[in-house]
Amino acid sequence: MGGTLSLAKYSIGVGDRFAHQAKPQLHACRMAAEHGVEVIPVWNKSNREHTIIGSTPASTRAAADEAVRTLGWSRPYHVDADHINLKTVDKFVEACDFFTIDVADLIGRPCEGAPVGALVEAHAELLGELLIPGVTHPFRIDRGFLVQVANKYLAAVQEAGRIYRRLEEKKGKGQFITEISMDETDSPQTPAELLVVLVAVADEGIPIQTIAPKFTGRFDKGVDYVGDLAKFSEEFSNDVAVIAFAVRHYGMSSNLKLSVHSGSDEFTLYGPIHRTLKKFDAGVHLKTAGTTWLEELIGLAEAGGEGLDLAKEIYAEAYVQREDLCAPYAAVINIDPARLPAPELVARWSPEQFVSALRHEPKCQAYNPNFRQLLHVGFKVAAKMGARYLHLLSVMETSIAKNVTGNLFDRHLKPLFIGE
Ligand SMILES: [Zn+2]
Repeated sequence: MGGTLSLAKYSIGVGDRFAHQAKPQLHACRMAAEHGVEVIPVWNKSNREHTIIGSTPASTRAAADEAVRTLGWSRPYHVDADHINLKTVDKFVEACDFFTIDVADLIGRPCEGAPVGALVEAHAELLGELLIPGVTHPFRIDRGFLVQVANKYLAAVQEAGRIYRRLEEKKGKGQFITEISMDETDSPQTPAELLVVLVAVADEGIPIQTIAPKFTGRFDKGVDYVGDLAKFSEEFSNDVAVIAFAVRHYGMSSNLKLSVHSGSDEFTLYGPIHRTLKKFDAGVHLKTAGTTWLEELIGLAEAGGEGLDLAKEIYAEAYVQREDLCAPYAAVINIDPARLPAPELVARWSPEQFVSALRHEPKCQAYNPNFRQLLHVGFKVAAKMGARYLHLLSVMETSIAKNVTGNLFDRHLKPLFIGE
């Protein structure tokens, strides 16, 4: 048996809906390495994405393995079963070595047995004024708060324990990386709540290496952060301090770190996150998803001809189907239909017009976040095109690869991990 599989300090979760961009994505990680910063790639894909595309976890694994072979990447890499639960985990067991256990649905549900009382009895040390090094204000945790937080999260932690143990039985202890995600829920977790959750996770014996809380503010799909930046910065910094505290006092994995499920393009957060990581010498897992698919569209449009035609056709179809396409993502998109260009207008656009409306350059006059968000959720349209879409991805590979790599390196890896 090899040692324990351990997630590196810096890692980036990359989505690759159609499993054609693993190489240009890995290329961006190689560029970061050339800048002296190791960022480990993790290819993540959820059950929902697999279902919509009609793909399997094995195809994500195959694309990752092939990219690693082709580029001669000698550092670690992982394949993440993203947002799995007890119902969906089994089909990911073979292909994945990273599991994001999503227990958000159980937040607020009653739990089995009497663990709330047990937690409160076992952790009297949390009560009173608790000064955690690096946290801006001491936490004041009273019995009522502890009971309330335990009531809210313990059923979720118990379920995470069941999923973790299923995985441990199938894959072997230490042979996979565990993340717990609680981001897909209505209200953010405060740093004090995060502490209680971590204590409960430690008691449940789940050796998580990363945890994704829900942060304050809106993390909409494919567009920038909307919220109180100062509040986010303080919360993020306090969360990092809480994690360091939980590692020291509750025997959690020494590499435990936050996982930021970004909705993909929260550019304004990267500066504050970068500064906090430096201040605490902390790691982070940044999970992006979906924007690679938009770079495919940008690459197709930029190539002109058939590529541009197909991109326009996808938009026209997404425009017609927008209500259905948006419904599953209602909580994480914000589209003003009045600002969506009519397909007849888009049909006359040049490659530059299409690209500048879609590419995420907030300062660009022509950038249209409504257009971008609709296409973000419009991957179903391309999935339905099947071989026709995939064929053009191969034909226009050069134009697409340049955009995929540039997007990941310039807009994500550089500002977040390298700090430029
Ligand atoms: Zn998430």
